[in-house]
Amino acid sequence: MVGTLITTTDASPPLFWGIDIGGTQIKIGLVDSLGGTVFQTSIPTAEKEGPEAALKRVTTVIHDCENRLPDTHRAKAIGIGAPGPMNLVDGTLIEPPQLPSWENFAIVDRMQALTERPVSFQNDANAAAYGEFWLGSGKSDQSMLFLTLGTGVGGGIVTEGDLVNGTNSFAGEVGHMMVHPSPDARLCIWGGGRGHLEAYGSASAVSTIATERLREGHESYLQECLSGSDCVVSAKQVYLAAVKDDPFSLGIIDETARWLGIGITSLIHILDPGSVVLGGAMDFGGENCPVGRRFLAGITEEFRQHTFESVFAGTSIKFATLGSKAGYLGAAGYARKEHTATGTEES
Ligand SMILES: [Zn+2]
Repeated sequence: MVGTLITTTDASPPLFWGIDIGGTQIKIGLVDSLGGTVFQTSIPTAEKEGPEAALKRVTTVIHDCENRLPDTHRAKAIGIGAPGPMNLVDGTLIEPPQLPSWENFAIVDRMQALTERPVSFQNDANAAAYGEFWLGSGKSDQSMLFLTLGTGVGGGIVTEGDLVNGTNSFAGEVGHMMVHPSPDARLCIWGGGRGHLEAYGSASAVSTIATERLREGHESYLQECLSGSDCVVSAKQVYLAAVKDDPFSLGIIDETARWLGIGITSLIHILDPGSVVLGGAMDFGGENCPVGRRFLAGITEEFRQHTFESVFAGTSIKFATLGSKAGYLGAAGYARKEHTATGTEES
């Protein structure tokens, strides 16, 4: 079963490690060829200790686990998902904002040396996209656009079964897509650019925009959450107020949906993926919550208004299903794709 732990006896070799490196946690999973997880854990990234120390701790987890397993279950390859920007061709991280001490780190070479196995390497959002494509919401699709809505807006593109990486290992960075051309448009959260989707469609944007308007005096349940000038409301608080039918918060969520709908429409018109999957922590309760369904309906309606009937009919926009497991599952899945003869031999 996808996303749940399976026993060693139930596992179908070959197995693959999936390593999902984040700013605070590294998720590590041992995944069989059908997508079942044999072992899963998380360790702190401990950014200040640097990348070499972190990879050594990952390697210790790998060796300790494999020492308890039969030889057939020794992983064939290792997949890593890490925050960009990166150079996928030479296997290095460039300057990940969440991991300043990992700048210019040759992550693939080091991981290969430590584990003596082939290493696949992907942007973290692309790895999550591949996870959803292999095992989650996109598993019946041939192509898929994935967005991860959290602090920022990340993305990944799967076309005809493979991830699109681009010339500069930058493909799928949909958060930096321009959606607002004005010189006064909001600033991207990573600085520099204005009018990027991330400045309107991320949890940071929801938090900033809601806080600004509350300070201007808009009526809302959330007014009582604002005390003191440096106090901000979070996207989570906006969501919780929306669940209680707070019109202000529902309005912010509708607006966020419209901006995402605009960005997604342009992406669909470029890629025609047939399927758009929304992952990440900002799902406003997702499919199981009226607010989440309203958010999804708002995005879909914006798309409907700006697209062609046949394209609308042939495209589905849906929530992701793997949650925070998508990253390590996709990293392992991509290692499987690159290091088995057909990539689908056991499925
Ligand atoms: Zn940007």
